[in-house]
Amino acid sequence: NNIVVAIDGYSSCGKSTLAKALAKELHFIYVDSGAMYRAVTLYFLRHKIDLENHAQIAEALHNIHLNFHTQNHKTFITLNEEDVSDEIRQMHVAEKVSSVAAIKEVRVAMVRQQQRLGRSKNIIMDGRDIGTVVFPDAQVKLFMTADPKIRAERRYKELLPTNPTITLEEVFDNLAHRDYQDTTREESPLTRAEDAIILDNTDLSQDEQLMFAISHIEP
Ligand code: C5P
Repeated sequence: NNIVVAIDGYSSCGKSTLAKALAKELHFIYVDSGAMYRAVTLYFLRHKIDLENHAQIAEALHNIHLNFHTQNHKTFITLNEEDVSDEIRQMHVAEKVSSVAAIKEVRVAMVRQQQRLGRSKNIIMDGRDIGTVVFPDAQVKLFMTADPKIRAERRYKELLPTNPTITLEEVFDNLAHRDYQDTTREESPLTRAEDAIILDNTDLSQDEQLMFAISHIEP
């Protein structure tokens, strides 16, 4: 049977950094579920989809085809065959993604695809509802947290090279706003699965986080 490692937590807690390191170490496939919600959001923005219009949303979801590709150890996400990996990290997408991710039809479609990805391969998937909704039977569940100021600083440094006009305050506000929306929405709100191991990485190096996670995965 294939193994699923579920990593959930707040925005910019280092989930994807840890997930990538674990995937490399264990030779698992890494799946970034947030990238899927971001790609859907990008499509909705480009096509000016009205978030209140359920018929429009259903049709849009029908026309959205997402895929992950790996090249030279880097993962890319395509939206209808176009590589959108960089564009989905931009602020205009970050500002809207939590509203799009709160829509029931969007979640149903994404969860279905995510479950399909985990059916045949050993995977590490990060997100907000992986251990609670997508893979409630995942063999390993981690729930990551970190100090909000540290998270904003880390994300700011990451975004600055491609978004030279961005400010630390803007990043901090976006994270706080997304955390609020993600934890208070009606549909699969972000919460820790009862059996998830908490990993607070405020004072941990990337190597220490990897060691911590490995110690809970290997028997
Ligand atoms: O992980 P990332 O920060 O890229 O996710 C972007 C947004 O997508 C989150 O703020 C959340 O609104 C949504 N998301 C979600 N469920 C997931 C992954 C992401 O609702 N499993």
